[in-house]
Amino acid sequence: MQLGLDYTGKRVLVVGGAHASRRVLARYLATGATVYHLVAPGAVAGAGVPAARAVPGVLAPTFPRSIGAWNALIAAVDLVAVVETSPHAEAVIAAACATNRTWLTREAPASTAPIGSVTLVGGGPGLEKLLTVGAMAALKAADIVYYDRLGPTDRLGDWAPGAEHVDVGKAPGHHAIPQRDAERMMVASALAGLTVVRLKGGDPFVFGRGGEEVLACRAAGVPVTVISGVTSAIAVPAAAGIPVTHREVSHLFTVISGHAPISDAELTHLVGLDGTIVVLMGIGTLQQLVAGLARLGMRSDIPVAIVERGFAHDQRTTIGRLDTIGALATHAGVRSPAVVVIGEVVALASHGDDAAADLLRDAAELAS
Ligand code: SAH
Repeated sequence: MQLGLDYTGKRVLVVGGAHASRRVLARYLATGATVYHLVAPGAVAGAGVPAARAVPGVLAPTFPRSIGAWNALIAAVDLVAVVETSPHAEAVIAAACATNRTWLTREAPASTAPIGSVTLVGGGPGLEKLLTVGAMAALKAADIVYYDRLGPTDRLGDWAPGAEHVDVGKAPGHHAIPQRDAERMMVASALAGLTVVRLKGGDPFVFGRGGEEVLACRAAGVPVTVISGVTSAIAVPAAAGIPVTHREVSHLFTVISGHAPISDAELTHLVGLDGTIVVLMGIGTLQQLVAGLARLGMRSDIPVAIVERGFAHDQRTTIGRLDTIGALATHAGVRSPAVVVIGEVVALASHGDDAAADLLRDAAELAS
């Protein structure tokens, strides 16, 4: 889309096959333009090309049968976007655009390959600014986006205007769609020829089941790529002014899942590391975790932070120590999603060096 142009109320004629033009049509519709679609001669059709759904809101002009009719049609619009057509029709269109001073642009057609593809996109912790350029490009090219509540979805309609959006976090009965069903849906869409994006929170390979989805695609012969994302394990503490490492404070960090209780052997190992511990999905097992760490020798005054709803307008940080955080969390009623940080780095955001704490907090504010 050309930056800076205001398409509101402009008339845009898209020329190309139904499938190939679908995304381009949706993009121009999203700009507020009045969009006409001409299925032109030369549009790819036939075996292996998936049928396109009609794009609501697009108008169909009468097909011009003469040079004069092409001229009249092109004189009536502001922009012609050619997605695909025959060389002859393209020459006629170009000449009519030149005569009528109508803008002409050429747009890449959507894939017409019989098999589509799946891209696992790490969407970051929820802030639009933390979506990568690669994530944006994949969304823009998508025919269908499978998302869940942890991915950033505020403006999905703008990021992926040509795509159908499917929530795989919640089914109509409010139960999450089982992982295997979500995988089957993605694979089926790709096998039907669609460009599929699976939008995930944070990074797809950090407790995101991205590995299983890659394997499911490979098993079905579907091409799959992964776009890394900004993980909440680092970004959410940062949003609360907590760096996961800091010179002379902590030179390592370990990210663990609190989804299931952690064994004593693992806890002993964590205590021995003497670095920052970051816990995702850790609210349900928080009490067990802090009690276990204390029992296995972690100092009771080690600072602990719980950052809920990182980057949301109601982000909240609860700060305590290993021996107080359990009660503080209960009192505050902390809830998922939240990131728990255990280690001296937490003090930088609370009662450490005041100047550093202020600077870190300010930096976090700039990011949000
Ligand atoms: N792949 C994701 C993590 C998925 S596990 C990533 O790399 O970030 C889900 C957990 O991530 C949540 O239970 C919570 O612990 C954490 N999380 C993700 N986004 C968060 C956010 N905006 N605020 C707080 N915690 C978040």
